Amino acid sequence: MDFELTEEHVVFREAIRRFAEKEISPLVEEAEETETFPVHLFPKMGDLGFLCVTFPEEYGGPGADKIAECIYVEELCRVSAGICSAFLVQGGLGTYPILQYGTEEQKQRYLVPAVRGRKIAAFGLTEPDAGSDAAGIRTRAVRSGDHYVINGSKTFITNAPIADFVMVAAYTDPTRRGEGVSLFIVEDGTPGFRKGRKLSKVGNRPSETGELFFEDCRVPAEQLLGGQEGGGFAKLEDTLRSGRITYGARCTGLAQAIFEASSAYARERFQFGRPIGRFQVNRFKLAEMAMNIEIMRTFTYKVAWLHDRGKLCMKEASMVKLFCSEALQKIASDGMQLFGGYGYMMEYPIQRYWRDARLFTVTEGTSEIQHLIIAKELGL
Ligand SMILES: Cc1cc2nc3c(=O)[nH]c(=O)nc-3n(C[C@H](O)[C@H](O)[C@H](O)COP(=O)(O)OP(=O)(O)OC[C@H]3O[C@@H](n4cnc5c(N)ncnc54)[C@H](O)[C@@H]3O)c2cc1C
Repeated sequence: MDFELTEEHVVFREAIRRFAEKEISPLVEEAEETETFPVHLFPKMGDLGFLCVTFPEEYGGPGADKIAECIYVEELCRVSAGICSAFLVQGGLGTYPILQYGTEEQKQRYLVPAVRGRKIAAFGLTEPDAGSDAAGIRTRAVRSGDHYVINGSKTFITNAPIADFVMVAAYTDPTRRGEGVSLFIVEDGTPGFRKGRKLSKVGNRPSETGELFFEDCRVPAEQLLGGQEGGGFAKLEDTLRSGRITYGARCTGLAQAIFEASSAYARERFQFGRPIGRFQVNRFKLAEMAMNIEIMRTFTYKVAWLHDRGKLCMKEASMVKLFCSEALQKIASDGMQLFGGYGYMMEYPIQRYWRDARLFTVTEGTSEIQHLIIAKELGL
C-alpha cells in the first residue's frame, strides 16, 4: 500500500491551484452576483488541458487518472464550487457517456470540441416529476424514418442555458422500465428543442441551471448514443457511479476552503482579550474539521484508486458521496458558527461556502438514495 501521491499528481495540483487562484478567483464575485457563468473560461481551460482531464490523448485530453481528476475538482471547488459545477458536467455527466458508449463519429463531433472547450455539454435526466425515481422519466423518443421524435421536458439541468449539446435520457421502449431508456445527443438549435427559464438558486450561483423542452423535436438517428436503443439505465448508472467518486473531491475542496477561512478568522477575531481560536471549544471544532477533511480526502482517493484499477466499486462510490457530503454539512455549519454574526453578512465568503455546501446531499443521488444503493449492494 502506498499513500504517496506521484510526482505528476503533485505538479498537477500546483498547476491547477495556481490557475484557479489567478484566473478563476477574480471572476467569482461577479459570477455570484449575476448568476452568470464566465464562459470564456471554457476555451481558455481547454487550451491548457484543464477540461475533461481523464479523457485520452486521442481525443485531445491529457489522459490523467481518476486521482488526478479528484485533485483537479478539489482545487477548483476550493475557489468556487459553483464554477466547478460546470466543469464537472463538461468532463463527466455530459461527456463521459460519449467516451464510454459513443460511436467514433460522435466522439469526433462532440468529445473533441468539448475537451477543447469549444462546445459546452449538459446532462438531461431529471424531470419535473422524476428526480430520485429516475426510471420514472416520461420523455419519449419515437423512431420516424431516419430520425427520432422526442417529446418531454427536463429540469434542474446544469449548464442548460449555455450548452451547445445535451445528453438526453428518453424512453424508446416505455414497456421496459429503466431498461427501455436510450440516450440521445441533442444539439442546441435542433427544431423543437427549446431552452426554458434559467433557474435562480440558493447556492452554486455561477453555475447556470435551467429547464429544457422537447416538442416534436426531430433528432437525426445518428444522435442516438452508440447507435443502440435501450440499455440507457446501465449507461447512466456507470456515469453516475464515476461522478459519485469525483463528488467526494467536490466536498473535500469546499471543506478545505471552509477550514482555511475559519482557521484564519479564529486567529484574527479577538473576544475577551484573546483570539477566539484560543477558546477550547473553537480549537476542537477546527481540529475536528481538519480530521474529517483528512478522512474525506483519503477515502475519495482510495475509491478513485479502485476505479483506476477497473474495479466496479458501486458501493464504495455511493459511500464516498454519502460520507463526504454529510460530513461537509457539519463542517459548513461549524464554520458559520465560528464567524458569529459576521458569518451571516454577505461580505464574508463563509456564507457562500455554507450555501454551496447545502446542495451536495441532494444532486447526483440524494443521501437517502445513496443509503438505498449501499444497502442493496450489501444484499440487505
Ligand atoms: C443545482 C442543481 C443542479 C442539478 N443538475 C442536474 C443535471 O445537470 N442533470 C440532471 O439530470 N439533474 C440535475 N439535478 C437534479 C438532481 O439530480 C435532483 O434534484 C435529485 O436527483 C433529487 O431529485 P428531486 O429534486 O426530484 O427530489 P425527489 O426525488 O422528489 O426527493 C425529495 C426527497 O425525498 C427523498 N426520497 C425520494 N425517494 C426516496 C426513497 N425511495 N426513499 C427515501 N427517501 C426518498 C429524497 O431523498 C429527498 O430528500 C440538479 C439539481 C439541482 C438542485
